[in-house]
Amino acid sequence: MYALHYQKAQSLKQAAAALTQSDASRLLSGGMTLIPSLKHRLIQVDELIDITDLPGWRDIRVEGHQLWVGAGATHQSVSRHSEVRTFSKGLSELAGMIGDPQVRARGTMGGSVANNDPASDYPAAVLGLNATIKTQKREIVADDFFLGMFSTALARDEIIEGLRFNKPLKSAYAKFRHAATGYAMAGVFVAQISKDQWRVAVTGATDCVCRWKEAEAAAGTVPKDLRFTHDNVLDDIHAPSAYRTHLVHVLYAQAISHLA
Ligand SMILES: Cc1cc2nc3c(=O)[nH]c(=O)nc-3n(C[C@H](O)[C@H](O)[C@H](O)COP(=O)(O)OP(=O)(O)OC[C@H]3O[C@@H](n4cnc5c(N)ncnc54)[C@H](O)[C@@H]3O)c2cc1C
Repeated sequence: MYALHYQKAQSLKQAAAALTQSDASRLLSGGMTLIPSLKHRLIQVDELIDITDLPGWRDIRVEGHQLWVGAGATHQSVSRHSEVRTFSKGLSELAGMIGDPQVRARGTMGGSVANNDPASDYPAAVLGLNATIKTQKREIVADDFFLGMFSTALARDEIIEGLRFNKPLKSAYAKFRHAATGYAMAGVFVAQISKDQWRVAVTGATDCVCRWKEAEAAAGTVPKDLRFTHDNVLDDIHAPSAYRTHLVHVLYAQAISHLA
């Protein structure tokens, strides 16, 4: 670590103002990504703005046919919340598959979605359920939010307040964990939105979470000729692209069987 200034924001307004004061300021949520990045000197920060105690920051509540998850809700609280489970079994189970107990106790939905690691799990549920990401400035639908590897539609001074999910008829998530970290080598989220509308989101396999339109058209079935084709399937020290493509097919079939 190196010298930096730390402050605990008392309001969203204060956090937003602090964020604009320096190009090297960063929001601190669960710290599960940010702190290791600082320790390894992957990023340089002069001002850490802790947003974990903002009022209502960790709220989780059902509002009619929608679920609100505050940006500061931990993975553990999402996975253990009975109303989340009733609302979307897939979202609840996904949260319980993230990392390990320590990571789940600290890491937050807002931090994970803002970071948009290509191997992270939440983006699959957020895109699969076409959630809305609410910031202090606007609302962004998931289809417009995830732009590329570690890249989102968030402006530099934009803070995620929370996410709003629409209730699916059914949803499920299947994941193949990296043996050391628990991150997704590949993960597939399947949601039946209405009688005729399905959404399928794939994480881990490509440079950014993406929808799999051919699987969506299969409407809850697993056709023999279904193929995952994408220009940027990852090919790295963890797995070659052919292996990841195979995983996507297997995980899609698993997620469909979990729906039943
Ligand atoms: C050992 C280990 C294993 C892990 N395994 C997995 C896994 O299996 N699956 C998985 O998905 N993730 C995994 N993670 C990542 C974990 O889920 C993190 O919690 C998550 O990526 C970041 O969330 P955070 O709350 O810790 O954010 P932080 O680390 O505090 O912040 C991350 C980034 O987001 C920004 N940010 C934070 N909150 C907001 C906000 N509200 N608005 C705008 N920007 C914000 C920060 O400024 C920072 O740039 C793992 C992490 C570790 C250390």
